[in-house]
Amino acid sequence: MRAAAEELERVRQLVAVGAAPVKQLKQAEERLEEAKESQILEKLLYSEIKVEDLTEAQAKEMVAVAGHFEQREQQRLDDAAKMVEIGLRSKNSLEPLAEGLARAQHTLGVAKSRAALVEELVGIVKAELEAEAHPQPEMIQEPNGPRPIFERYVGSMVFGPQDLKKMMLAFEKKFAKPMPISARGETAVHRALGFDHRGRVDVALKPDQEEGVWLRHYLESAKIPYFAFRKWIPGQATAPHIHIGPPSTRLIAD
Ligand SMILES: [Zn+2]
Repeated sequence: MRAAAEELERVRQLVAVGAAPVKQLKQAEERLEEAKESQILEKLLYSEIKVEDLTEAQAKEMVAVAGHFEQREQQRLDDAAKMVEIGLRSKNSLEPLAEGLARAQHTLGVAKSRAALVEELVGIVKAELEAEAHPQPEMIQEPNGPRPIFERYVGSMVFGPQDLKKMMLAFEKKFAKPMPISARGETAVHRALGFDHRGRVDVALKPDQEEGVWLRHYLESAKIPYFAFRKWIPGQATAPHIHIGPPSTRLIAD
């Protein structure tokens, strides 16, 4: 990025004394912008950063930046294709540009799917915040009759890492797929919303679907406390899930 910044400065001086066309300044600015966005993607997408460590704002930024890369690659290909049409470029020379576009599209897809996981987590945390604000759950109509928006099971056991491991194995054995864990302990999203989620686990299962029913029975027979969240209003970010462990508490500001 330093190189791009220095180049921009050099071009700016040349343009100022009339030694380079203004168009070059614009190109240098674009290259600097691209270098900056490369760094953002490097940090948020390609590094070893886990979904749990991404905030909602970072997830949005990641998708926006990956979108810019895709647009730029598309533009390059379109411009080059026009030159092919008027005979200024060979058709073969389009190949690397098409590959570049395909890579950018793939990156955008990965960024979007990671961001969707963060969005789901935001919905889960919002459901828990709402339950905290309205401890008396209202009833909602479910296919199996009226049910409370959330239910609490007060178990007497402490939920530890060993219990989680055992439970995940049992789930996999029963359903031949991994348990869909959305949050294991504290995440960046929880922290950003001021929630202490340490020692708690969120599982992205609807409480009344087969797997959700199984998990609730499992937890009850092991006397492990949980909350089952049902509410799902399309367009609103409160997601159904099962929260295992004691209720979350507010993070105390330093
Ligand atoms: Zn939770």
